[in-house]
Amino acid sequence: KSHDKQVKLILIGDYSVGKSSILHRYCEDAFWPKHMPTIGVDFRTKFVRDGNNTIKMQLWDTAGQEKYRTVTSNLYKNTSVVLLVYDCTDLNSFDNVANWIKQIEMNVSEKTIIILIANKIDLENRLVSTEDGEAMAEAYRANYFETSAKTGQNIDKVFDYCVENIMNYTVPRFKR
Ligand code: GDP
Repeated sequence: KSHDKQVKLILIGDYSVGKSSILHRYCEDAFWPKHMPTIGVDFRTKFVRDGNNTIKMQLWDTAGQEKYRTVTSNLYKNTSVVLLVYDCTDLNSFDNVANWIKQIEMNVSEKTIIILIANKIDLENRLVSTEDGEAMAEAYRANYFETSAKTGQNIDKVFDYCVENIMNYTVPRFKR
């Protein structure tokens, strides 16, 4: 057996917030300065070690489905982790977070880990503050990280957090 556990992670969020760049940074440790849109769902596999366990991570990038209305419930099937990304220099992408969360909550189990990511923190023209991001995450019981796919800042932290929590995710979400 090549792995002890298989998990599915999906990246969602508005167009151009940096979803593909985050995956590319994590998987290849590289960055493309130009936007190269993918059509459909891009899919990568990565094996990671957690203690004595090997986790097979299936990473789904939802290129071309950035309008939450067009993302189907199929995409969410068997998802362990949702990485919901916005661009901290794009207010519109932040405003849409609430819509994305509504859709996520309708489609995932209460065990699913939800991580809100403020990307592009390397840029000078930031419009969404850390406080606003944290408040949004807290309102929806999501975890919060700030990243730059360009510099690589905190990218590994996000995925390390996922790996750590996937192995022992027993705390139900959305518990009232
Ligand atoms: P996607 O549509 O959400 O997959 O977004 P992309 O990954 O294609 O990125 C959209 C654009 O933003 C591209 O031009 C990227 O090079 C750029 N980009 C992505 N992440 C960052 C980042 O952290 N910092 C900066 N400065 N640019 C970024």
